[in-house]
Amino acid sequence: MIQITTPLNFLGSVYRNIRQGLTDMGEMHDLLEQQPEVQDKAGATALQVQGGRISFHDVHFHYSPERPILKGISLDIAAGQTVALVGPSGSGKSTIGRLMFRFYDVTGGAITIDGQDLRDVTQGSVHDAIGVVPQDTVLFNDTVGYNIAYARPQATREEVIAAAKAARIHDFIESLPEGYDTQVGERGLKLSGGEKQRVGIARTILKNPPILLLDEATSALDTQTERDIQASLAEAGQGRTVITIAHRLSTIVDADQIVVMEAGRIVEQGRHEALLAQGGRYAQMWARQSAEIDHEDGSQA
Ligand code: ATP
Repeated sequence: MIQITTPLNFLGSVYRNIRQGLTDMGEMHDLLEQQPEVQDKAGATALQVQGGRISFHDVHFHYSPERPILKGISLDIAAGQTVALVGPSGSGKSTIGRLMFRFYDVTGGAITIDGQDLRDVTQGSVHDAIGVVPQDTVLFNDTVGYNIAYARPQATREEVIAAAKAARIHDFIESLPEGYDTQVGERGLKLSGGEKQRVGIARTILKNPPILLLDEATSALDTQTERDIQASLAEAGQGRTVITIAHRLSTIVDADQIVVMEAGRIVEQGRHEALLAQGGRYAQMWARQSAEIDHEDGSQA
C-alpha cells in the first residue's frame, strides 16, 4: 500500500521531495514515511565512474510481488551514448529510471555502471554520478543564481553564468529586474514551465555528472520553448551518457539507440531510421504522432 501512494511520476517526485525536504523538514518526514528503504551493504564503496557504461542484465522488478512490472530487461548503453526510452504509458520507462538511480533495488538480475553492481555501491555515490532533469523543476524560494548554484554551492558566479549560457537561460536571467539576484519560486517571480526546466538544466550542467537522466515533459510546449529546451539538453548531454524518457518522438530522432517498451519488456531497439524501416511498433507510433502534429498544424491554420 505504501508503494501505491508514492507519486508515480518518474524520479521527479522523489527528487523534488528530497530537495524540498532540505528546506522543509515536514516534507522530508513524508518522504521517509513513503519511500521504501534501499539499504547500502555493510562496507559498500563509492561508485567509480570511468566512462558511464550502463548495463541491464535480465532485470526483473515489481513494486509488489503479485504485479511484475519489468520482465527481463537486457540493455547495454555504451559510455557517451544517448538512449531514448519510448512506449505507452505504464510500460515501465520511469521504473527503469528509478532503478538506475537506485531508488529501488532490482528484484531479479542486475544493473551495473562501469561493471559495478548498483547494490554493491553506496546510493549516495550513484546519486552523485547521475544528474536528473525532472519534468518539473522545483525552485527554492531564493535567487535564480542560488537555484542554479544549488548543485555546487562553491561554484563561482562565472561558473553559474557559463552553465546558464549553456542551458540557454542566461539572456532571460539578465532581463530580470535584478538579474541573477532576482528572487524566484513560490514567494518570488514565477517562472514558466520552460524557464524552470532550463534553470534545472543549468543546475545539472553545473553539477557536471557523467550520466544524465532526462524525463521529458509530457505537457505540450510551444515550438520555440521546445526548441530552446532541446538546444539546452543537447548542450547538457555533450560528453555524457544520456538516458531520456521520451514522450515526443520528434525529440529523439538522433538518439544512438531507441528502446521501445511494452508491458515491461523491450519489444524493439535500434536507431530511428532502422526502426522506421522495420515497420513495427515504433513505425506505428511515429505515424500516429506525425498525424497528430499534422492535425494540430491543420487546425491552427
Ligand atoms: P508514463 O509514460 O505514463 O510515465 P511509464 O512507462 O513511465 O509510464 P512506469 O511509471 O514505469 O511507466 O509504471 C509502470 C507500471 O508500474 C505502471 O503500471 C504503474 O502503475 C506501476 N507503478 C509505478 N510506480 C509504482 C509504485 N510506486 N507503486 C506501485 N506501482 C507502481
